[in-house]
Amino acid sequence: MTDDHLYGPGVMKYVKEAEKFLVQKEKQIARIKKLKFDTIAVHGLYTVEEALSQNQGSVIEPLYLATAQAYRDSDEMEAALAYLIPTWCYTRIANPTTYYLEWVLALLEGYQTGYDTSCLVTASGMSAIMLAVDSLLVKQKEGAEKINFVSSFQLYGGTFQHFTVRKMKERGIEIRWVDHQDDVEEWKAKIDENTRFLYSEAPSNPQQSFCDVKALVELAHSWEIPFIIDSTCATPALMRPIAYGADIVIHSLTKSITSGGLAIGGALISRKPIATKIKNENPLFKQSFAEYVKFLPYRDNGPAAAPLNALFALNDLRTLRSKMDLVSANSEKVAEYLSQHPKVYQVDYLGLESFSLHNLAKKFMKLVDSDDGKGKEVNRYGHLLSFRVDGPPQNARKVFDNLKIIFRAGDMGRIKSIATIPAISTHLQQGEEARAKADVPPQMIRLCVGAENPDDIIADLDQALGSL
Ligand SMILES: *Cc1c(COP(=O)(O)O)cnc(C)c1O
Repeated sequence: MTDDHLYGPGVMKYVKEAEKFLVQKEKQIARIKKLKFDTIAVHGLYTVEEALSQNQGSVIEPLYLATAQAYRDSDEMEAALAYLIPTWCYTRIANPTTYYLEWVLALLEGYQTGYDTSCLVTASGMSAIMLAVDSLLVKQKEGAEKINFVSSFQLYGGTFQHFTVRKMKERGIEIRWVDHQDDVEEWKAKIDENTRFLYSEAPSNPQQSFCDVKALVELAHSWEIPFIIDSTCATPALMRPIAYGADIVIHSLTKSITSGGLAIGGALISRKPIATKIKNENPLFKQSFAEYVKFLPYRDNGPAAAPLNALFALNDLRTLRSKMDLVSANSEKVAEYLSQHPKVYQVDYLGLESFSLHNLAKKFMKLVDSDDGKGKEVNRYGHLLSFRVDGPPQNARKVFDNLKIIFRAGDMGRIKSIATIPAISTHLQQGEEARAKADVPPQMIRLCVGAENPDDIIADLDQALGSL
């Protein structure tokens, strides 16, 4: 991509040096890809060699709080700012600590999928969503242009707000909602040549709706458009949509990935290449979408990840697989208990056999690198569930207010059990009509089960339900 005539020999010297480094890095990535999920999660790209040669032997990845990088001379600076060599420049563009997190996530989400991946880490889950969709909602011709995207109606409240207010009301972009995202025919009926992408959240927060990832990827690709999926609730330990050809995966790192609850963050991971008809002069747009977004729109829009937050995420992520196994197993016990309780009229949990979407989720949600003893992976469904309390909404509030161990907060994905009433918290802005359509009634309590002994959580729920 470089034009030798434009850059002086000093600049090209740095480019040549960088090429050697990149060859080494490719080899290193190829080596790491042969390792198991847990090993990649624990080590990522940070090696003993790098620790000893560059970081005083530090066992843990270094935290670079400095906002900017210094260069050896003007040639290196020019090469860096023209993106001719790998560099971090300035924390709004890149940062060495964030870089380690980006690579771990790219490798975990691409783990044994057969695809190469790239990743961008952002300040929050919402900014990852904004950057992914805005980069695909760009103008393609002069004058008025009709564009739309097709999305599941059952979304995280913040995403719903972003789509309806920031995209539909402010920008006039048409959103074609799919009411039942498990119904492929409904998606099919909504797409036309002006559709820029399909957007799903699965499992959805809090309703636990789910989609046929494989069928939707095929559908999107038959129109040469990308399939975007927010799989925050699954995490790469339980589902890797890229294995089915998904183009872009979104995570709120704030949730289960940073289960310790000390940092906010988001991630956009893309398959190389993505399906798209959009014309962009930069070949990275199609070939490595996450990198394209990182080098250009992310830099220009500014939702930079904080390096300290990246380190918190990186640290929590190391044990992601075993944690998701544990909290999923705990959730199964709690969901079983709740589904037997006479004061509870509905429990939504993908792991319950009685739940309508159980069989669909069973195809996709499996604990990575697990073995049920018969050579098959073990199904695990995450730690988000919801239950509905009999009677008027005041009953649900009473149960909620009587919880003693379980925290009341609009938070989830924690190592600690946390409950909320979505209708008065995460889904408050949607309004009653949209909540009814999304099936978020005021009787619903969302519960995200932590790593406590599940018997204690069940006892807490039991005494709270006993207050009725
Ligand atoms: C929380 C959440 C988001 C938004 O993430 P933030 O980090 O809070 O910006 C997006 N999607 C899902 C499914 C979420 O749960």
